Amino acid sequence: MLPRENTHVVSIGNVKIGGNNPVAIQSMCNTKTEDIKGTVEQILRLEKAGCQIIRCTVPTNEAAKALKEIKKEIHIPLVADIHFDYKMAIAAMENGADKIRINPGNIGSIEKIKAVVDCAKERNIPIRVGVNSGSLEKDLIAKYGGHVTAEGIVESALDKVKLIEDMGYDNLVISIKSSDVLMCAKAHELIADKTNHPLHVGITESGTVWSGNIKSSIGLGMILGQGIGNTIRVSLSADPVEEIKSAKLILRTLGLRTGGIEVVSCPTCGRTNIDLISLANEVQTLVEEYDHKNLKVAVMGCVVNGPGEAKEADIGIAGGKGEGLLIKKGEIIRKVPEGELLSTLKEEIAKM
Ligand code: SF4
Repeated sequence: MLPRENTHVVSIGNVKIGGNNPVAIQSMCNTKTEDIKGTVEQILRLEKAGCQIIRCTVPTNEAAKALKEIKKEIHIPLVADIHFDYKMAIAAMENGADKIRINPGNIGSIEKIKAVVDCAKERNIPIRVGVNSGSLEKDLIAKYGGHVTAEGIVESALDKVKLIEDMGYDNLVISIKSSDVLMCAKAHELIADKTNHPLHVGITESGTVWSGNIKSSIGLGMILGQGIGNTIRVSLSADPVEEIKSAKLILRTLGLRTGGIEVVSCPTCGRTNIDLISLANEVQTLVEEYDHKNLKVAVMGCVVNGPGEAKEADIGIAGGKGEGLLIKKGEIIRKVPEGELLSTLKEEIAKM
């Protein structure tokens, strides 16, 4: 298998992916792209959360024109998502899209695909070739036993990549998606052996915050853990900011990202005498504003095991009866009344 570092470097606006570049985090707006104000507002929130590349759907000419105005207000590259209409792909590029995402299988004739490729070539705009298991060609379903398979998804993607390469363009990123986690992981293992183009990785239609996070963590863990994948998206039926929070934690957990505060908290037990569950949730929300710090914070339920279990954390709190302990690297610093634990922790984190 080719390691991630062997992939071509592709520039999406001011963000480079592939090669030695870190895995970049993407999301997609769920606003109407024609709504410039609403879309800009959402992108700025996503930027603040740590989104590095944003995708917007471009179903109309008005949406394509909106890209130009949206780009003036934002600071991260904008990818135009095109379905079916090749004219929208061209209009999006003419209006400043930093990348386009197409499924050549949905675009139609070779002439239409070539028109899109020629426009991208002229401007050196990368094309993401996207294939979803849901739209796999019938002949590839038949070829691999009458159902959707990882092999079929990979063959479909590589056929489309070759089609574009044969038109003389190789500024490409590939995405192959399935909501079946194991099939998706297998497809990525197969395709990583066969191409040097960067891969955008994600488990599609993975569900709500709860199920989507579980499926995405397992799938992305399996894929990224093998050194595959150059950009990621955690697809959730939720505010897209949730996708960024999850993507950051997945990358941090796999050691592919530094920065940000990791919260460890105990599961609570019969020894817990404070409202630790609420406190842990409040700490989790609190640390989101400290993306520039690289810390581990422990929130433990009792003073019996808390200080010991918090040893690996940079800072922590451990609950007692109506009060708690402030702990730094396993050393107890002082007692703090329960009502002041959160504010004390905040002050300490700000100083670190
Ligand atoms: S830290 Fe204390 S309260 Fe939390 S699970 Fe361990 S023993 Fe129980």
